[in-house]
Amino acid sequence: MPPMQVPDKIDCVDCGQVAHRLTYPPEEGWAPGDCVAYRCSGCNDRWDLVVEDGEHGSSCELDSRFEEARAVLEHRRRERAG
Ligand SMILES: [Zn+2]
Repeated sequence: MPPMQVPDKIDCVDCGQVAHRLTYPPEEGWAPGDCVAYRCSGCNDRWDLVVEDGEHGSSCELDSRFEEARAVLEHRRRERAG
């Protein structure tokens, strides 16, 4: 099985700035279930993605996960704010 592809950077959905990957690739390469963290250079938000065993392994798969992560984060933020 070829190693999963994980982008070095993604666009922050909050502010549109570039979010750089914090997590270094494992020696054996990315595997489904691995957590990948990104830090936004604009709003300094941290984004955690989970590598999925998508059939195509494209960045589009990650993009949809990113939207999910954003929804969860916003929900948590709201809870914290009360
Ligand atoms: Zn941002």
